[in-house]
Amino acid sequence: MKTKSGIPVSPGVAIGPAMLFGARGFRIPQRFVSVDAVESEIGRFRGALHKVAQAIEENQHVASQRLGEEYAAIFGAHLLMVRDPKLLGEIETLIRSKCFSPEFAASRVFRNYAKAFQNLGNAYLAERATDVFDLEKRVLHALLGEDRPELTHLTESVVILAHNLTPSETAGLDREKVLGFATEVGGRTSHTAILAGALELPAVVGVGGFLADVSAGDIVIIDGYRGEIIIDPDEETLSRYKLVLEQYKSDKQRLAKLTSAEAITTDSVRIQVLGNIEFPQEVEHCMERGADGIGLYRTEFLYLGTNQIPSEEDHYEAYCKVVKACGNHPVVIRTLDLGSDKVPANETEFVSSCDNPALGLRSIRLSLNNLPLFKVQLRAILRAAVYGDVRIMFPLITSLLELRKAKMVLNDVMDDLDEAGIPFKRDVRVGMMVEVPAAALLADQFAPEVDFFSIGTNDLIQYTLAVDRADPSVANLYWAGDPSILRLIRMVVDAGRTHGIPVTVCGQMSSEPRFIPLLVGLGLRHLSVTPIAIPEVKDLIRHLSSSQSEEIARHALTLDIARDVENYLRGEVDRIYPDGSIAE
Ligand code: PEP
Ligand code: MG
Repeated sequence: MKTKSGIPVSPGVAIGPAMLFGARGFRIPQRFVSVDAVESEIGRFRGALHKVAQAIEENQHVASQRLGEEYAAIFGAHLLMVRDPKLLGEIETLIRSKCFSPEFAASRVFRNYAKAFQNLGNAYLAERATDVFDLEKRVLHALLGEDRPELTHLTESVVILAHNLTPSETAGLDREKVLGFATEVGGRTSHTAILAGALELPAVVGVGGFLADVSAGDIVIIDGYRGEIIIDPDEETLSRYKLVLEQYKSDKQRLAKLTSAEAITTDSVRIQVLGNIEFPQEVEHCMERGADGIGLYRTEFLYLGTNQIPSEEDHYEAYCKVVKACGNHPVVIRTLDLGSDKVPANETEFVSSCDNPALGLRSIRLSLNNLPLFKVQLRAILRAAVYGDVRIMFPLITSLLELRKAKMVLNDVMDDLDEAGIPFKRDVRVGMMVEVPAAALLADQFAPEVDFFSIGTNDLIQYTLAVDRADPSVANLYWAGDPSILRLIRMVVDAGRTHGIPVTVCGQMSSEPRFIPLLVGLGLRHLSVTPIAIPEVKDLIRHLSSSQSEEIARHALTLDIARDVENYLRGEVDRIYPDGSIAE
C-alpha cells in the first residue's frame, strides 16, 4: 500500500481500478503479462516494431524525394535505433525475465535511453532525447493501436490517474464510468479542478510524479477530502474508506432534507447562497440543493471540447435553458473568460497560445479585441434576458476605461437589436468581477459605474500573491487567508456598502466552510458557491450569528500570517459547526 498526497479539489471518495495516462498523453498499459503469454507478447512486440520500421522507411522515402537526402537522414537515425539489436534485446529481456508487458518494457527502455542522452551534458545530444521520445510514441501507438482512448465512452468503472487532464478532457469524462481522478499536475483553482467540482467527481490534483508507482488495474482510493490517493490499499484501509463513503452519503441525506430552509443566521441576517455553474444542466443540481439563483455562469465552457465556434443561437439556447430553469431567481451570466489558461489555443481560433496566459490576451481583453465574438454573446444574453432575472457580468476588469468600453459595446448591441426589432431586455443589471488587485484597490471608483461587484478570489489570490493558481510547485504559497486578501475583500465590501451596490464572493473561497464566518463577518451577504457545497454552506450559516462572525473577522484581520489566519478560522468553524462534513 502506498499513499500520495496532493491538493483536494473536489470532495468525495472513489474506490476502483486505475486507468493510467502518462505525461506524453499515452495510456500506460498493464505492467505485467502472464508467464504463458511471454512468447506471444514478444511476437506482438516484433510485429509492432516491424510496422514502425516500415512507416519510418516510407517517411524517409517521401522526405528524400520532396526535401532532399539531408532531411531524410533524420529518419535514417530513427531506423537505426528501431533496429538496434542492443536496444531491442534489452526490451525483450525485460519481457522474458520480468514478465513486463511489451508496452511497459519498451517505454522503460526508451526512457532510459532518453535520460542518458539528456545527461550527456551536450545540448546537441540532449536534443536527441526528443527523437527517442518520438520513437517511444510510435512504438506504443503501434502496440496499443490508439492514443488516448475515448474518455467519454469507457466500458468499465475506473479511477483515472493521469499526468494531466485538459479542461476539455475533464469535461468529456464519462460520468457513468469514471469514479474519480488524480493528476500529477494542477492547482487548487485550476480549471480542471473547477470542472471536477462541476462534475461532482472526487478529485486530487498536484500529486507530483506518482504514475511510476501504479500499474493499470491496481485498486486505488481517491480521497477528495484530504487530498490523498492510496494505491493498493490493505483490507483495513479499504474497510475504513467504505465507512467514509457511507458517512458521506448519510451527511448528504441529512443536508438534503434542509435544502428548502433559508440561509439565515441565528440573529436573523439573510445570506443569499447562489450556485456557480459551467454547464446549463448544473442549474438543476443547484436548485435541488436550495440555491437562491446562479451567481456565476462561466460561459467560456461553451467553447470546450469543440472546434466549432458557438453561434448566437447556440449561446441563446444555452442561456434560455439556464434562465428558464431558474424561474424568478437571478442568473448572473459572465461574458467570455476565454484564454489559453482555460481553453487550449488549438481549440478555438480566437485563443492564441502565449508564454504567460494569465497575464495575456484573455477574458474581457480578448472580447474587446474581438468585437464580433463579444457582440454575438451579448446579443444572445440580452435576448434570453426576456425570460427571467438576467444580470451581465464582465470578467477581469482592470481599468475604468476597460469597463466603460465594455458597457459601450453593450449599448451598441442594444441599439442594433432595437433597430432590427428583435425582442430583448434593456434594463439588465451590469456588474463586474473584482479579481485583479487594481480593481479591488479602485473599488470605490468602479462602484458608481456598476450595479454589482462579484469578487473572484481564485484570480485575486493568484494576482495578489503572484502565485500561478494551476501550478502545484507553488501551491503551498496560495493562501486565501493571506492578510492581503482579507484586506482587499474588506475594501471591496466597504466600497459596495458606501455606494449601495451588492457584493458577492464567487471564487472557490466561498465554497470552503472555514471561510464562511469570515466572509459573513466582513459584511458579505451574497455567496456564490460550487453546487455540491450549497447545502453545507447554508447549514453552516444557520449555525452562525452575524455578531459572532464580525468578531471572528476582526480577530482574523489582526493576524499577520496566512497560515495562522486559516488555522484560526478552521478552529472557529469546528467549534461553531461540529456537525460539519469531513471535507475540512
Ligand atoms: C475567480 O477568479 O475567482 C473566478 C470565480 O473566476 P474563474 O475561476 O472562472 O477564473
Ligand atoms: Mg477568474
